[in-house]
Amino acid sequence: MTKIKYITFSLIIIIYSFSYAQEIEFYGNLAPGNVIIAEGNNIQWAWIDSTQLRVDSKKLFAFGFDAKETGSKILKVKHDKGLVSLKKINLPSREYKVQKINNKKQQFSTTPDSLMTRIKREREVAINAMKKIGKVDTAYYKTGFMIPIKGGVITGVFGSQRILNGVPKNMHNGLDIAVPRGTPVYAMTDGVVNLTTDNFYYAGNYIVLDHGQGLNSLYLHLSQILVKEGQHVKKGEIIGKVGTTGRSTGPHLHWGVQWYSKRVDPAELLKIKYN
Ligand SMILES: [Zn+2]
Repeated sequence: MTKIKYITFSLIIIIYSFSYAQEIEFYGNLAPGNVIIAEGNNIQWAWIDSTQLRVDSKKLFAFGFDAKETGSKILKVKHDKGLVSLKKINLPSREYKVQKINNKKQQFSTTPDSLMTRIKREREVAINAMKKIGKVDTAYYKTGFMIPIKGGVITGVFGSQRILNGVPKNMHNGLDIAVPRGTPVYAMTDGVVNLTTDNFYYAGNYIVLDHGQGLNSLYLHLSQILVKEGQHVKKGEIIGKVGTTGRSTGPHLHWGVQWYSKRVDPAELLKIKYN
C-alpha cells in the first residue's frame, strides 16, 4: 500500500512538474543576492520552503535569496484547477569582492555609551518599520525597475566584504553611486513610503519604500527628504536629494534593495525586464 502511494505521489510530481514549466515564468536570477519575480495564471497560493508568498491578482509573486544563502529550496504553487506544481531550486555559490583596509587610527576606536543608546534606538525604529513591509498582496513593483540616479560613478558594489586591520566587517549591502550633493533621487518603482528618518547615526536621512509582497528599497545619506510616510509614489518620482548625512565620507547615494529583510543586489534587479 505504501509503495503504491509512493509511486502515485511520484507520478503526480512528474506530471505537475511537467505542467509547471508552461505555467510559471521567472524573471531574475535564481541565485544568492537576487529577487525573482514569477508570473503565472490562476495561482491560489505559493510557498518557498516554509514561507508563504503573497500573490497579486492570482498572477504575480516575488521571492528572494540573501547574499550568502545556500542549498536547495522548494517552490510550491497551487493553481485554481487544483494542480500543485513543485520546483526545486539549487542555489549556486556566488563570489564577492574583498576589500582589505589597514588603518592604524581605527584600530583602538571604541563607541561611547551615549552613542550606543542612540544607535540602539535608531535600530529599533528601523526594525519596527520593517515589520510593516509585505502586508499587502499588491505588486506595486509591476511597473518595472529603474536606477534611482541619473549619471554618477559607482563607488561601491553589493556583497563586497571589508576587512579592516584584519578584522572582517559587515558586508556592503547596497550599491553606492557618487554624484554631487542635491542630485535628485527617484523611486526605483511604484510603492508606498514605509519610513523616513531624521539624521540617523549610520544612514543619515533615509527613505524606505515598500513595493509590495516584501520587496522594499532604501535610499541613504540624503540631504533632503521630499516624501512623507504612507505616501504612494510612482516609479521615477523624485523622493529626495543626494547628500552625505550619517556615516558617509562624501555625497553619494547608498541604494539598497531587500526582500523582507534579505539583502539583494540592486544591479541584478535592474536586469529584470518583465513588462
Ligand atoms: Zn554604501
